[in-house]
Amino acid sequence: MNWSVLYRGDRIELYYKEKSRGSYKLLKKPYCDICSSPLANGSTCSWTHTHPTFAKRIYAMGYYKPTNSYRRSGEADVLSQHIYYAKRNIWKGEPLGLAIAECIKNRYPELLKFDFLVAIPRYKTEYHEDEDSGEPFNPTDILAKWINHGTGIPIITPLEKTREQKMKELSLLERKQKARGLYQYVPSPVKDKSILLIDDVSTSSSTIDECAKILVRNGGARKVCGFVCGKNDPD
Ligand SMILES: [Zn+2]
Repeated sequence: MNWSVLYRGDRIELYYKEKSRGSYKLLKKPYCDICSSPLANGSTCSWTHTHPTFAKRIYAMGYYKPTNSYRRSGEADVLSQHIYYAKRNIWKGEPLGLAIAECIKNRYPELLKFDFLVAIPRYKTEYHEDEDSGEPFNPTDILAKWINHGTGIPIITPLEKTREQKMKELSLLERKQKARGLYQYVPSPVKDKSILLIDDVSTSSSTIDECAKILVRNGGARKVCGFVCGKNDPD
């Protein structure tokens, strides 16, 4: 373990080999208690058409801003940078996963009772190659590994992706349509269990909700929620 993380209420401080590497800004209230979007007031947002149907709630550590937007503003958004770099190097997913584990323990301890973590799978052609070692990897597997390290919640793999499909640059409606049939169930001990789906970013909830649908309908899961590093809001 090269990274250590410290929960500070509004942020998580990061240390790489004991040297400070900035901090992740955490979600600030008020935010929607279903999809984690920022709110002006109240507890649930009006974006109900993007709310999940099968997943009960999508938790987020912070907000994700696409790389070009924070580069333009010159703002140091360590969380968005790390989400971006975690797709390039396996070791860069470690602080994100450890930080999510701290969020779970300190902000959402109810999640510690969940039975399993499930990383949103990628299709084999969608694996990333580590820039140093060339090793193919799925960034969400790395996140799940470090969340498991910090929380002890076991990981299972009850889902497979059936084809290549990028969601970036699709409209909300297109995302929902394209997500259908994108994942299939792999028989697993999920009946009556609670499952936390792990992804890097949630924009429309459609990927997490499609996976939740399969776990509930095909596997008989009792409760499914999602946890992402960053909530990205549709414009
Ligand atoms: Zn919402």
